Amino acid sequence: MSVGKFDAAIVGGGPAGLSAAYFLAKKGYQVILMEKGRVLGSKNVYGGKVYASIFKELFPGFEKEAPIHRWVTKEIFSILSGDDSTTFSYNSKDSTAFTANLTELCSWLGKKAEEAGANIFTETKVTSVYKENNKVKGVYVGGERVDADLVVIAEGANRLLSERSGIAPTPPLSSIALGYKESVKLGEKTIQERFNLDDREGASWMFLGDFTNGIPDGGFLYTFKDYVSVGVVLSLSEATNIADSHITLFLENLRNHPLLKNLIKGGETIEYASHLTIVSPLEYMPGKLSGEGYAIIGDTAGLLGNMGYTFRGVDFAAYSGYVLAETFEKMRNGEWESYDKTMRNTWVFNEIKRFSKVHEIMKQRRLLNVYPMLLNDIMMSIFHIEKSVPKVGDAALEALKKRRVSPISLLSDTIKISREI
Ligand SMILES: Cc1cc2nc3c(=O)[nH]c(=O)nc-3n(C[C@H](O)[C@H](O)[C@H](O)COP(=O)(O)OP(=O)(O)OC[C@H]3O[C@@H](n4cnc5c(N)ncnc54)[C@H](O)[C@@H]3O)c2cc1C
Repeated sequence: MSVGKFDAAIVGGGPAGLSAAYFLAKKGYQVILMEKGRVLGSKNVYGGKVYASIFKELFPGFEKEAPIHRWVTKEIFSILSGDDSTTFSYNSKDSTAFTANLTELCSWLGKKAEEAGANIFTETKVTSVYKENNKVKGVYVGGERVDADLVVIAEGANRLLSERSGIAPTPPLSSIALGYKESVKLGEKTIQERFNLDDREGASWMFLGDFTNGIPDGGFLYTFKDYVSVGVVLSLSEATNIADSHITLFLENLRNHPLLKNLIKGGETIEYASHLTIVSPLEYMPGKLSGEGYAIIGDTAGLLGNMGYTFRGVDFAAYSGYVLAETFEKMRNGEWESYDKTMRNTWVFNEIKRFSKVHEIMKQRRLLNVYPMLLNDIMMSIFHIEKSVPKVGDAALEALKKRRVSPISLLSDTIKISREI
């Protein structure tokens, strides 16, 4: 039985679905959004950093309204091997990214969408897609049918509904990863003291090295107002082949590394969370992003940037919701490929494409096991001084010999990495 007909029915209340709901409702369309979580944002998991430019462009005045925790003024990158580490840090008072709690960010987007006129239902799980003569005409929530001119699927990276309904294929294992994280409450003052931050300033910290036992991709730490999130992203195909211990151990390795241990000492764990994410977006992306009666946006469509040193999904998801709303009228008039074509011509899509080989590079075991040791060996030769100080070149050659790396393979890997990142 149909409970009603809408211009658009959106599945999923993450950044993609909520942005689509907001922009469609703002244009005056009748919109329904169904989210299975108890409240908006309760099912969404991410690391913590959002690039601001898209939010600034799409939501004027967002800096004042949005639940921003800290503006990232410290970008840190550490390479770990054993207990050793080498760290690069870039500090600038100018910031282009912020940290925000995703639940709070989704609630904020949801409020905007509702104010614009969208109908949002939480605790509402879409169970199947309703088709007639192969055209998508609506969705089912249990036995109840919701009809719509366009069904927008924004169910995230774990796209079970899209797969079941034949809208997207099951993604190859090599294109996805498992991300898991722990949020540790330290208090506002402690965070600022330990990370050397002023009020509202934040740190974004990436980790690469042997703590994942050679499994791509790496680890992260973000500072929020009074807590930090520490997490690991593990490529699933490699994890299933290589992992010989429980994967939570890799997060323990990172947490207990001497570089981090004292920074989060005494903190109270307030949350554990895990979620699928996409590491190889073009491999994950379905052939068509829209068709008769449907469009897929955000992670479900593979619209996430894996830059190697960071994941960029939240702002790209919100952008895809905006593009969807811009192309809605054309689709409804029968140009179903309109969203697909427009999205593929955006700078966001180009950015995703540009970094599409990053994951291949991350898969090289040398990058995570050998090179971190090599770098830390060189640092040790330079800084652990007994008598005479070695020349940097001699220290590097000595380290290459010790780790059995030929200068040619190092050079070729360096060229490959610098071409892609
Ligand atoms: C560990 C980790 C770290 C990350 N770090 C970052 C980062 O620092 N910065 C960044 O920008 N991105 C990051 N990302 C990526 C980012 O989280 C995603 O790109 C972004 O959340 C995608 O938004 P979305 O709306 O497409 O999907 P999601 O946020 O996954 O939202 C999908 C929604 O659909 C709902 N849903 C699913 N199925 C149904 C159904 N059948 N019926 C009703 N509702 C349904 C879910 O409950 C969920 O609320 C990270 C991801 C992970 C896993």
